Amino acid sequence: MALECTRCGSRFPMFPPHGLCEKCGGLLDYSLDLPVKHELKFLRHAGFWKYKPLLPPVKHTITLGEGGTPLHKANRLAKLLGLKELYLKDETRNPTNSYRDRAAALLTSNAIDLKHKTLVCASMGNLGASMAAYCAKAGVNCHIIVPKLVDVGKLAQMLVYDANIEEFGEFIDEAIGRAEALENEMGWYQATAELNPLAIEAQKTISYEIFEQFGVPDWIIVSMGSGGTLYSIWKGFRELERLGLAKSLPKMVGVQPEGSAAIVKALLKKLNKAIKIPKPSSKALALLVKEPMQSELAIKAIIESKGLALTVSDSEIFAAELRIAKFEGIFAEPSSAAEVAALKKLAKEGTLDKNESVACLITGSGLKATDILQALTKKKKTAVLGLEISTKEKILRILNNKDAYGYNLWEKLGKTMTRGAIYQHLTELYSKGLIASYKKDRRKFFKITQRGKEVLQAIDDLKILL
Ligand SMILES: [Zn+2]
Repeated sequence: MALECTRCGSRFPMFPPHGLCEKCGGLLDYSLDLPVKHELKFLRHAGFWKYKPLLPPVKHTITLGEGGTPLHKANRLAKLLGLKELYLKDETRNPTNSYRDRAAALLTSNAIDLKHKTLVCASMGNLGASMAAYCAKAGVNCHIIVPKLVDVGKLAQMLVYDANIEEFGEFIDEAIGRAEALENEMGWYQATAELNPLAIEAQKTISYEIFEQFGVPDWIIVSMGSGGTLYSIWKGFRELERLGLAKSLPKMVGVQPEGSAAIVKALLKKLNKAIKIPKPSSKALALLVKEPMQSELAIKAIIESKGLALTVSDSEIFAAELRIAKFEGIFAEPSSAAEVAALKKLAKEGTLDKNESVACLITGSGLKATDILQALTKKKKTAVLGLEISTKEKILRILNNKDAYGYNLWEKLGKTMTRGAIYQHLTELYSKGLIASYKKDRRKFFKITQRGKEVLQAIDDLKILL
């Protein structure tokens, strides 16, 4: 068992996990000796961790009850699209409402094995929210780097779980660079999905579940940001084939928004690696990438599986989002609704035979996405029941009510912490643009910003969900 370079084949120790080959700069991927078939039978009736024997060995098992998500047969949507068999793998049912909880469970467990007290993670949202929650559970400090454009609902989750949030760069590409620098400078555990191949290992369990729930679909449609998720699904099915369980393999379909299609463009030009798009744009924020780091893996998976890749427009994505909700009762985030938008195109042009089975991966909940949250705020709210709130959230609530100065806040927070700690929170809230300050009567007053108000609103919306 080793961590193996996907380009030159060099092998490295499994831990600590590294993303890139020291020799050629290629992407590293776990190569495991899989156990024989009968050993798996002891492990039924649990979620993610029942697949532990098929993952790189970790000692700790941090869990919030991730995995074991339903695979819905989407009859109404299938009929609408003229298909016989359509399945939706509903990853919104994970603890923080996205598939990244699987990665967070494995990565926090490994970070604790390796005795790290702090981890760093660059994220477009879902992974950050997941890591924040699992770090809270495990008692590990969580430093998240987010690009400028990130879904507010996901930011609200990170804030509630009390992660340290740093905004860096316009796109995920810059945030990843910052996470790499912090890993080297501070010695923190690297939990960025593009830099830690354990994320792929964790996500391949989605395929094991689809296989147990249905078998092997003829097609699987996965949206692509960095490309790592699509590869994870492919890797899972390849392993099931190697284990002698799966008799066939799915054709992989990769989907990107028109304005952020580095991988689709590379495939059209028959390149094995994406070319940089200087200014990607899409309302599906989780798919905004300039130069997808795992494009080689995604392209390899699409070609090996005899699949294909295509783009969809933002308006097609939002139409699909509403259609999934209206016909199947699942509120998907825009990035996964893109798959159903793509499916509509493929069914219409006859690329898919109507008798073939199709599965789409619903990666996360639509409640995490800004625009949807804003629409929701206009609706009536239900009461929030006794939820524990973080100090930062308390400060925001006090300031939302009335501007205050430091001593004021200390009193209102019940004098339970040092004033130094309060100033630390204020500094962090300030650096995230959630509060502003001004001078009055020779005192420094703090006030909530528009962005701060939006985050509070998003927190309220999330609490209706819980
Ligand atoms: Zn290499």
